[in-house]
Amino acid sequence: MEEAIVIIGAGQAACQAIMSLRAEGYEGPITLIGEENYAPYQRPPLSKKFLAGEIGYDRVELKAESFYAESGVTAYWGTRATEIDRRAKRVLTNDGRYHPYSKLLLATGAQVREINVPGFELEGIHYLRNIEDVHAIQAGFKPGARMVIVGGGYIGLEVAAVAKKRGIDVTVLETADRVMARVVDPIVSHFYERLHREAGVTLRTGVTVSGFEGEGKVAAVVSGEGERFACDIVLVGIGVIPNTDLAHEAGLEVANGIAVDACARTSDPDICAAGDCTSHPNDIYGHKLRLESVHNAIEQAKTAAASLVGKEKPYNQVPWFWSDQYDVKLQIAGLSTGYTDAVVRGDPESGKSFAVFYLKDGQLLAVDAINRAPEFMMGKILVAQKAALDPARIKDESISVKELVAK
Ligand code: FAD
Ligand code: NAP
Repeated sequence: MEEAIVIIGAGQAACQAIMSLRAEGYEGPITLIGEENYAPYQRPPLSKKFLAGEIGYDRVELKAESFYAESGVTAYWGTRATEIDRRAKRVLTNDGRYHPYSKLLLATGAQVREINVPGFELEGIHYLRNIEDVHAIQAGFKPGARMVIVGGGYIGLEVAAVAKKRGIDVTVLETADRVMARVVDPIVSHFYERLHREAGVTLRTGVTVSGFEGEGKVAAVVSGEGERFACDIVLVGIGVIPNTDLAHEAGLEVANGIAVDACARTSDPDICAAGDCTSHPNDIYGHKLRLESVHNAIEQAKTAAASLVGKEKPYNQVPWFWSDQYDVKLQIAGLSTGYTDAVVRGDPESGKSFAVFYLKDGQLLAVDAINRAPEFMMGKILVAQKAALDPARIKDESISVKELVAK
């Protein structure tokens, strides 16, 4: 069969894979199949500057649309891949076309987790994953409007910050007993709760949403305890589910994401996968990870591109994340799951600059840096080194971050 690479999904990972395939010297045809009506764009600004209206589409697109044709890519926008026929080595799309491949990349990302409670279909209830979602939310951004946000994770809190700045009355409802509980220690959660409350956001934890009320359009969110939160607009940000159906139906191994090895290869040697849709091994932490981040999509796509052209460039990096809320930048190096000690450098009670170092039996697992770029940068290096740190030195700000490892 002639050489032909097909990529399903046209997001962050797909765009990187195209650049890396060409950089690796692959000169054959590339077909890109994306169900959105847009060329690949960055999602982070969708809950930050793009939502705020501070930047336009030209600043979120990853490459100008002309890039794809110039790079020898046949791109299909607004087209959904509906089946992978592994025996015939071709992909079927919803327009009835078949796309033959010698190698295939799955870069299908993730979809929002929907809330399945009575009233979920009412007008005015939104999710946030793509550009069209932003336009729908912005239509309800009228000063004085009442917005209820379900979920105190990244999306919920970033949107709360933007909406508050737009003069909207914001209430955040979180089921857990603190915000961002999945990713940070209580010290950091409580800092963000204070930050939002000081900005005028009503923040309620331990609240489970049991339904929505309204005549055609949402007018209130109801909690399991029977409390009513009157509103004009709702945003639901309760996590994502990896897009694995195509892979599963094609008989590929799927376990909390499309299972891939360190080289981004699936259980079929001719098919790779990268980005939010995968579950992959990580040697630093010694177990499989499913990550939802730009860094992961980019780095895993580079590895996948190498594998697709027969090279081995295993992906094994310290994961990192960031979140912008008001004037505070949170940067996270590593994953803190399983920590035994959270050591604070700086003062989280007053001001907006501190870092939390997560240790497991003395070894550094992760760093949450709040307006602390040096701690974040050094954190990435030290986590990769599996450095053992002395809590007393971490706390002592007279010792620079570069000198945290005792000589
Ligand atoms: P995606 O970018 O989601 O791309 C997948 C594409 O595949 C989508 O366009 C999808 O429609 C398409 N697709 C799926 N199935 C099919 C099919 N069958 N046929 C055709 N096309 C298909 N990460 C950070 O690191 N920092 C941040 O600050 C941050 N902020 C974010 C803010 C928002 C609002 C959102 C939604 C995400 C944010 N993320 C952030 C996460 C980050 O954007 C994702 O991790 C990243 O986009 C993953 O890239 P991907 O290529 O795997 O998936
Ligand atoms: P998320 O970070 O997983 O947060 C979802 C939050 O909603 C969690 O706190 C979760 O609590 C809570 N929740 C779950 N079910 C709930 C319910 N029924 N009622 C109320 N709260 C509920 O996911 P997200 O904020 O929706 O973000 C979606 C995706 O976008 C993720 O991939 C995320 O990484 C990405 N994103 C990233 C950034 C960033 O990195 N800065 C910014 C925006 C979006 P539990 O944990 O207890 O379930």
